[in-house]
Amino acid sequence: MDADTIFAVASGAGQAAIAVMRLSGPASRAMLAALCGRLPTPRRASFRRLRDAEGAELDQGMVVWLPGPGSYTGEDAAELYLHGGRAVLMGVADALVALGARPAEPGEFTRRAFLNGRMDLTEAEAVHDLVAAETEAQRRQALRQLDGALGTLYGGWADRLRLLLAQQEALIDFPDEDLPPQVEALVVGELDALRGEVAAHLNDGRRGERLREGLVFAVTGRPNVGKSSLVNALAERDVAIVSAIAGTTRDALETRVVLGGVPVTLVDTAGLRDAENEIEAEGVRRARARAAAADLVISVSEAGTPAEDGNVLVANKIDLGGAVPAGAIGVSALTGEGLDTLRARLAEAARSLTESAGPPPLTQARHRAALLEAAARLAGAQTAELSELRAEDLRLALRALGRITGNVGVEDILNTLFARFCIGK
Ligand code: GDP
Repeated sequence: MDADTIFAVASGAGQAAIAVMRLSGPASRAMLAALCGRLPTPRRASFRRLRDAEGAELDQGMVVWLPGPGSYTGEDAAELYLHGGRAVLMGVADALVALGARPAEPGEFTRRAFLNGRMDLTEAEAVHDLVAAETEAQRRQALRQLDGALGTLYGGWADRLRLLLAQQEALIDFPDEDLPPQVEALVVGELDALRGEVAAHLNDGRRGERLREGLVFAVTGRPNVGKSSLVNALAERDVAIVSAIAGTTRDALETRVVLGGVPVTLVDTAGLRDAENEIEAEGVRRARARAAAADLVISVSEAGTPAEDGNVLVANKIDLGGAVPAGAIGVSALTGEGLDTLRARLAEAARSLTESAGPPPLTQARHRAALLEAAARLAGAQTAELSELRAEDLRLALRALGRITGNVGVEDILNTLFARFCIGK
């Protein structure tokens, strides 16, 4: 447990009707009693007048006493529901500092929750994601992770790996003992199964990461077909510059929209055509790079002309009477015709790029890096010729998995070894 008692306004900056001041650490009880006299009943909102050391009233409001270890951080903690004015918050902060508390570092409450075993690292990361979630789908994913879905998945693999390692070590350490003859076969089979599951999880089309980070849709097409107008119409606000002069949208312009509950950045590319000058050439180059890296390409052409390559084909300016090529969605950025169909099609694409049925998806690059390492070690274990080398690969795979949830420890391995094999006979 940390010796410092920390505090912070948890409800964000700026004037507000109510601000929540959070307090955590061993001196919370004494500090709360000093501030509001009588200590309230645990976990019950109680009305109190808060006073400084001289007895001057600082504020009045609800306070909650949250004794550890059942609190968010696992420590003794408290929450103060104060009037959200600057002078009130400064007065209470000063009083807390005078009592020996210090302002919390960013994320310090959640860090303490992790260190005190209240949550694993994936859950701590989910707290951050939930606070940052902009859309419903992101919120669902973060809540699922906060509930421990990812921690359970990775923890389950780690448990199986620990057992494998214990069996492997038994094969090495006690070759002459009466180990069941099928242990070796079990190890080989389970190793193969585990590696398959980790590989399948890694090979998920980056769904979880895409949802967390948001998608990029590139809007491509020849100059003047109405790309900027279309992005504006989709965003329902004037973000891109619309101009009747060809090639004015030189740089890629980015617009954030929400499609199918997923945040999507629409990249309005410069006219993809032969450049007439250097600046335009740079615009074309960037547009091509953007389009190449995008999750989806919306290719825009004018109705009455052939469609160009892309994942979603749009024939714009149907108000001018041109024919819509087969496979394209006819729209008019000017009149709004066909935009609902286009929006629905894009929402469906956004969902199918991010939705995952079944087990929870990978959500961050940090997890991916550790899982890639684990997968490589499992592969190494499969091909290892010496038992000792296989054990070492299994140990490293377990360590990589442990880094994700934050509980790497060799003691567990020993515990499993001794618990599963009655070695002390
Ligand atoms: P971009 O170069 O592809 O980004 O094209 P812009 O969005 O700048 O549009 C080029 C020209 O086409 C502008 O004069 C727009 O007003 C016009 N335009 C865009 N969409 C439509 C449409 O659906 N119908 C008609 N009639 N004109 C359009």
